[in-house]
Amino acid sequence: MNTKINVTVWNEFRHEKSNEAVKKLYPNGMHAVIAAALGKTGDMNLHTATLDEPEHGLTDDVINKTDVLIWWGHIAHGEVKDEIVKKVQKRILEGMGLIVLHSGHFSKIFRTMLGTNCSLKWREVAEKERLWNIEPGHPITQGIGKYIELPNAEMYGERFDIPTPDKLIFVSWFEGGEVFRSGCCWERGHGRIFYFRPGHETYPIFYNEAIIKVITNAVRWAKPRVMIQDDCPNVEPLEKISEKDVDFGSAGILQN
Ligand code: ZN
Repeated sequence: MNTKINVTVWNEFRHEKSNEAVKKLYPNGMHAVIAAALGKTGDMNLHTATLDEPEHGLTDDVINKTDVLIWWGHIAHGEVKDEIVKKVQKRILEGMGLIVLHSGHFSKIFRTMLGTNCSLKWREVAEKERLWNIEPGHPITQGIGKYIELPNAEMYGERFDIPTPDKLIFVSWFEGGEVFRSGCCWERGHGRIFYFRPGHETYPIFYNEAIIKVITNAVRWAKPRVMIQDDCPNVEPLEKISEKDVDFGSAGILQN
């Protein structure tokens, strides 16, 4: 029996084609680097999908086989078709896991799942970032230690317009003074969602072992525990219900 976690790494895959510095870092795309690293864990089957493929690489077959979807997007969020977003949302509500990286904070799927603007402050001057591990007992922070330090990062600062996370596990400090909720967990329907801040395309973030460790742990945390299709049935009572001496109308309103 195949008990491996089926992971789809989705990437917009545009900066890698148009920006020489990004192309040099990620010649086959960030998705290829993330998938190769996760593939080494041994407990995951990796698949990749990109924006410019038919249906953005997210056909019904791919969506239905995916246990955990990883999402990186930035300049082309608006090109992602609403019908695909709807299918992904349905699958998450049924139990699929979603991991949103960095600039994916403005993706249609993230904003759809959370229902807020997901806006933030930003600055790109290659400053130092320290991500503090504030939940050392959480499955996603296992093996991470007290903090992760990135020598050069794009800054994301509060206020991050998100619903209060069910669990906040990383808080970032930046050299320029800002702080940011960098590791956030939510549940929506039967699915688990993790947002992880690092991942700016011009820095070698996805070659960093600690970053890959967090994403690996997050995949294992977000894998489906159940997969339940939504319905809203009218049901017969399990026990016989005694007749009441009051008269309710069909909308449950007392008649008199
Ligand atoms: Zn960025």
